[in-house]
Amino acid sequence: MANMQLNKTPMKEQDPQIRNANFLEVALGYTLEEAMNEAQRCIHCKNPACVSGCPVGIPIPDFLAKVAEGDIAAAYEILSNANALPAISGRVCPQENQCEGKCVRGVKGEPVAIGRVERFVADWAAEHGVSNVATAPKNGHKVAVIGSGPAGLTCAGELARMGYDVSVFEAFHTPGGVLSYGIPEFRLPKAIVKREVANLEKMGVDIELNMVIGKVLTITELFDMGFEAVFIGSGAGLPMFMKIPGESLVGVYSANEYLTRINLMKAYKPDSETPILHNKKVAVVGGGNVAMDAARCAKRLGAEVHIVYRRSEAELPARAEEVHHAKEEGIIFDLLTNPVSIEGDEKNHVQSITCIRMELGEPDASGRRSPVPVKGSEFKMEVDAVIMALGTQPNPMSYDGTPGLEKTRKGCVAADEKGCTSCPAIFAGGDAATGAATVILAMGAGKHAAKSIDEYIKSKK
Ligand code: FAD
Ligand code: SF4
Repeated sequence: MANMQLNKTPMKEQDPQIRNANFLEVALGYTLEEAMNEAQRCIHCKNPACVSGCPVGIPIPDFLAKVAEGDIAAAYEILSNANALPAISGRVCPQENQCEGKCVRGVKGEPVAIGRVERFVADWAAEHGVSNVATAPKNGHKVAVIGSGPAGLTCAGELARMGYDVSVFEAFHTPGGVLSYGIPEFRLPKAIVKREVANLEKMGVDIELNMVIGKVLTITELFDMGFEAVFIGSGAGLPMFMKIPGESLVGVYSANEYLTRINLMKAYKPDSETPILHNKKVAVVGGGNVAMDAARCAKRLGAEVHIVYRRSEAELPARAEEVHHAKEEGIIFDLLTNPVSIEGDEKNHVQSITCIRMELGEPDASGRRSPVPVKGSEFKMEVDAVIMALGTQPNPMSYDGTPGLEKTRKGCVAADEKGCTSCPAIFAGGDAATGAATVILAMGAGKHAAKSIDEYIKSKK
């Protein structure tokens, strides 16, 4: 009999007033009993809507059934056959818009907490030394993957399972893409990213670090080296700025730089070799998930933190859960507020930010009411750092100059899951092909591309 409790089984979290001063994981995960209780809320629909909402096609009711029985090893096998990075997606996938958003239990009450159970299963497997690294015998074909974010890692894992020799070329000294350099430790511990990458290496995936494709090697040279297909998963790491006076002052960061220094370079640690200034008062400009991550990091480094966002709370693009966590941790929201300029002191260090109050006017092309400045409402806020979290776009360095390769107007690789229209041996997915999206969409794109690469290479035989 299914568990008909209306709400999700709660998951323990660190106390907000303790966690806002440390980088340890906020969410503490389920116990076995809690995971079984939650999995028993699944009513095993004949046509499971949750599966259609999952970009990597996890057979959700099947793995939940195994958890409900307490057979976690079997649940892990089902889960990991479909998803190369379950401990990661269980933590950071916006399930409310994907599987959980479609779950029928959400009609009268809360959906099944699929992500929390997924995370439990992946963590249980790691704690019990269970992995799923079986691959088909080597087929003698070589594929290159550019970028080791969720798109590249998923594509590499899927191809390795099919028997391909896969080399991943990563520009940074650490694999993981945004999982390593963007999403903070307190939401996604880096030990978990390492663990999932290690599983791929056990499957034979070769990861070449410090390899900036477009500089060290070009795509044409990769083909010359014997790779028969190339997957571009180089993400969207180029930050955008507002183009207001003062953006080049010391103490103005792009959220990407700020988060990279903290997460990848471990600048938050007292013994860091690349420390970062611990600011007193920080303005984070933007209202998305990246803004919330930057704000929560600045808070943990001891600052008073203000989110400066030009629309109202209803239009905040960040996940409701992230906004809730940020508020609990003491982040101050200055809504309907837009920066006009940043001022510096005699040493060109940020001293203040001038903002203007906004009101909402008519809906714009996005359907959201557009923010309109309120004349004469400018005011100055003293701050010693400003973090711009306004979005990113793809950096075309890896693919610019590749003969025949087309780009979209936004600089993305022009490709669908079947590959690039103009270069049949080049495939692309994740943020490089779509602009900024989500981890699970990048993983789904990597998985589909692996299938298309396999079809392409077989078609050449
Ligand atoms: P990336 O993760 O960007 O990986 C691309 C990789 O390619 C990088 O490692 C980069 O160094 C490498 N690369 C780039 N150029 C080259 C080159 N020339 N040569 C070799 N390597 C290269 N999504 C969610 O679903 N949930 C979240 O909670 C979430 N939080 C986020 C928080 C932040 C701060 C940010 C920035 C994004 C967040 N996202 C989140 C979005 C999500 O992380 C991205 O959509 C996803 O990582 C895209 O995956 P990708 O593999 O396409 O690219
Ligand atoms: Fe279970 Fe919800 Fe999926 Fe139905 S939609 S199978 S209840 S998880």
